[in-house]
Amino acid sequence: PSTPHWLFGDQLGPHFLTAGDDGGPGRDAPVVMVEARSVFRRRRFHRAKAHLVLSAMRHRAAELGDRVRYIEAETYREGLRKAVGDGRLTVCHPTSWAALRLVRSLDGVTVLPPRGFLVGTDAFRAWAQERSGGRLHQEDFYRWVRREHDLLMDGDAPAGGRWNHDHANREPPPGDAPTLGAPAPYRPREDEIDEEVRRDLDRWEREEGITFVGRDGPRRFPASRREALAALRRFVDHRLAGFGPHEDAMLAADPVMRHSLLSSSLNLGLLDPAECVDRAEAAWRAGRAPVESAEGFVRQIAGWREYVWQQYWWFGDGHRDRNALRHRAPLPEWFLELDADAVGARCLSTVLAQVRDTGWTHHIPRLMVLGSHALQRGWDPRAVTDWFHRCFVDGYDWVMVPNVIGMSQYADGGLATTKPYTSGGAYINRMSDFCGTCAYRPDRRVGDRACPFTAGYWAFLHRHRARLEHHPRMARAVRGLDRLADLDELLDQEAARGAGPP
Ligand code: FAD
Repeated sequence: PSTPHWLFGDQLGPHFLTAGDDGGPGRDAPVVMVEARSVFRRRRFHRAKAHLVLSAMRHRAAELGDRVRYIEAETYREGLRKAVGDGRLTVCHPTSWAALRLVRSLDGVTVLPPRGFLVGTDAFRAWAQERSGGRLHQEDFYRWVRREHDLLMDGDAPAGGRWNHDHANREPPPGDAPTLGAPAPYRPREDEIDEEVRRDLDRWEREEGITFVGRDGPRRFPASRREALAALRRFVDHRLAGFGPHEDAMLAADPVMRHSLLSSSLNLGLLDPAECVDRAEAAWRAGRAPVESAEGFVRQIAGWREYVWQQYWWFGDGHRDRNALRHRAPLPEWFLELDADAVGARCLSTVLAQVRDTGWTHHIPRLMVLGSHALQRGWDPRAVTDWFHRCFVDGYDWVMVPNVIGMSQYADGGLATTKPYTSGGAYINRMSDFCGTCAYRPDRRVGDRACPFTAGYWAFLHRHRARLEHHPRMARAVRGLDRLADLDELLDQEAARGAGPP
């Protein structure tokens, strides 16, 4: 009989079980899955995320039927002992340093290459060493992936004549409408597995002292391959065509806009990135989506998702401990508890409520509202990473460390980003409809109506003046401090504001 194959909870699609030339798993290999309770004791997850992960694992187990031994245990070690004793196992390369250490420490476990990504780690290493002299450039990486995988190519040239249509993708919200009016995204319907998950979560809270944050309303994200394919189809057929131009815009009444909502399905392994980009390309070739939209989506997956995955391994396990700006403030209670109602600033309150209610918000609210606020307040980047990991349905260690430590908190001093991502209220005002009815004014930096992002931006520049004044892309902004006659007042005001909700 073939060696049993162990599936982690983020390896749930069929491509984790197909026979490959990487040494297995065998075509009919028995499957082992372990639901480790300790994961939920260690971290206080958003309840909707805990629900999604458990529901997805249990849906996969139901699909696999007799082929799987599904063990509920306190730890992975205990679960594996129950499942196979001292027997041998194969497993695909897991997605975190901690899980990699675990599987390598277990006797009899053969670790197969990673699946679920377009680019192999060795190929990436060779590329990074040769072409960039070790320095990573996302745009170079992205073009290399397009060529290597023949994605949106016309021979040697990029389809549509350019590699990148980003110039067209930074549009503010169009007009005054409260929503983009895009066709609705796919939403799943709960079933008896969800009911059982909800009962278990209630019991853990009641009897085991396991606690969660956030609201666990009806499940909003796919938990099975069937649902994930339906979500992908709905996106490509009905929503892809308008993807792109308003990717960076934010509307209070339309949190999803035209975003795909596919991240949790990709990160659970329910969808393979290859099928996502192939379908987007096919839609363009069939004339069902303009090249700008197909390219914008392909870049998110083949350019960004892949790049972030590679960065996670390339920068090593120590990347999470970087703290170049020496930010040490703890996260305040209102933020940890997702207490959106305590927040007066409308942008932050709206976005925090989206996280509380759904465990998801799109890229710009993550970067330019939540992350930017944390950066301006000097919150400990590791604690910020942990917060994102726990509170987002698509949050996993590999994707959080580069996105939060690297991109959002500039904690690695700019290994892969060109400058800190933060702004005053003017950017938020331009890119959203949040400011109109807000109690604060984006153009005020002092006084009762001072916008916390505007004041916070100047306070951040002041705090890091020595580091940023020679930075090619920040020097001009830093020089702006010299023109502020009210800088002392602003700094006193920000110090008095303290850690309370703005
Ligand atoms: P779309 O806008 O429709 O994009 C399509 C796909 O591209 C996404 O589903 C995702 O798989 C991929 N993608 C795009 N950008 C990134 C990126 N920077 N990193 C990884 N994948 C990307 N994404 C996660 O999947 N998990 C996270 O834990 C996560 N944390 C983030 C934290 C911060 C502070 C920031 C700034 C970004 C983070 N992102 C994360 C990236 C991005 O915000 C989400 O992938 C995206 O908002 C998910 O929504 P969507 O599927 O509708 O994305």
